[in-house]
Amino acid sequence: MDADALVGLTIREARSLLDSRQVSAAELARAALDRVGAVDGRVGAFVSVTEDLAMSQAEAADKRIAAGAAAPLTGVPMQLKDNMATRGAATTCSSRMLEGFVPPYDATAARRLYARGAVLVGKGNMDEFAMGSSTENSAFFPTRNPWDLERVPGGSSGGPAAAVAASECVYSLGSDTGGSIRQPAALCGAVGMKPTYGLVSRYGLVAFASSLDQIGPITRDVADCAIVLSAIAGHDPNDSTSLNAAVPDYAGGLGAEDLSGLRIGVPREYFVEGMDAEVERSTRKSIALLEDLGAEVEEMSLPHTAYALAVYYILAPSECSANLARYDGVKYGFSDRAADSMWEALERTRAEGFGPEVKRRIMLGTYALSAGYYDAFYLKAQKVRAIIRREFQTAFGEFDAIVSATSPTTAFRLGEKTSDPVQMYLSDVLTLPANIAGIPGMSVPAGLSEGGLPIGFQILADALAEPTIFRIARAFERASGWNGKTPPI
Ligand code: GLN
Repeated sequence: MDADALVGLTIREARSLLDSRQVSAAELARAALDRVGAVDGRVGAFVSVTEDLAMSQAEAADKRIAAGAAAPLTGVPMQLKDNMATRGAATTCSSRMLEGFVPPYDATAARRLYARGAVLVGKGNMDEFAMGSSTENSAFFPTRNPWDLERVPGGSSGGPAAAVAASECVYSLGSDTGGSIRQPAALCGAVGMKPTYGLVSRYGLVAFASSLDQIGPITRDVADCAIVLSAIAGHDPNDSTSLNAAVPDYAGGLGAEDLSGLRIGVPREYFVEGMDAEVERSTRKSIALLEDLGAEVEEMSLPHTAYALAVYYILAPSECSANLARYDGVKYGFSDRAADSMWEALERTRAEGFGPEVKRRIMLGTYALSAGYYDAFYLKAQKVRAIIRREFQTAFGEFDAIVSATSPTTAFRLGEKTSDPVQMYLSDVLTLPANIAGIPGMSVPAGLSEGGLPIGFQILADALAEPTIFRIARAFERASGWNGKTPPI
């Protein structure tokens, strides 16, 4: 099989090639590895390639297919963001701190994919410890957007989104703390979903901000997203925040052609200042399309939206300052042993092991949590978080879904926002309210800008209302004419 045969391939198409024996899982894995070899020097979506593991998983998949016991994902090549633990394969979070760290266990999400016969091609590049919106904070190298190599793929799951867009794998898993699945999916023309908080186990996901982090799929289309979510969702006793809820068959509910009977809200506040005119135009067109499909669309208000960014940038750094305290150079990871005392070793390890954005967040969080400031910052942010959550709950009493643009801009140039952290933080202004409220959200491709850059459309729904998002997204995808476009790379 030619590596180019992977271009645009969906999970379902791979499934039918495998089931009809037109291609073996081993051939498909080899094609993916060849594709990575051919394009990743330019894209930089992979921090490591797991060739041996891929070939042995593919061999096992071929046996399973021969025995007539294939699951939807059996033998299909995929990638995992490099903050998900993979036993025997390096898991670095794109940080010097974890360079060369090989976990002794698998993240639950990885284990669930393996159990269904998945084939891991490698690990996806990311902003260090998932802090960033452009993947330029990777300690190793930036990832480039396959639609325009001078531009960023978004972040922090820029590696996964670019790998899917460049057809270096059929799907990938990202993590989303404030938008890190949806924003890169939007900028790369992929489908990306952040599930309800607790729906997918965080066991083995390197913690950034534990009350916000959630793993989810990045795929080429909506039906593939449903397949992957069905595989990874569900209760896990190893994660105390895991929900004990039944997992519906997400792919089963994709048939509906129209959206009649659905009420969809368009929050005024989500047309933010500084939004690209083209993004705004595209979003209004997408909203009109939902109306054409039979949905009842109404403008509404989520008045506390303006505080979401501030709440996020107090809570996420606070949680990260506690979570990242474990990197002390003693237990595992990078260690500077040249020092004379324990304290000096600790200081030097953290000074050299972490990059500038991670240090900025640790300092912000430590400050917000310190005695004397705790009430004014952390506690206040928690109170506003409760208000934002309640505001969504009230809205979902009236609306089945809420829609907006995913990102205020299309992919920006490398280096364009690196010197101004606040500009970078604004990339997630439309995505992070969902993390604050714990609700699910998806970005679906809505079309290309005049300059040929993807624009994403975001669909939010109430906790555990993923089936509603899938129904809207599938109908939208069918009507939008996007048709699985791929970049010319
Ligand atoms: N860009 C946001 C941040 O830097 C979100 C990151 C994420 O979702 N992991 O924190």
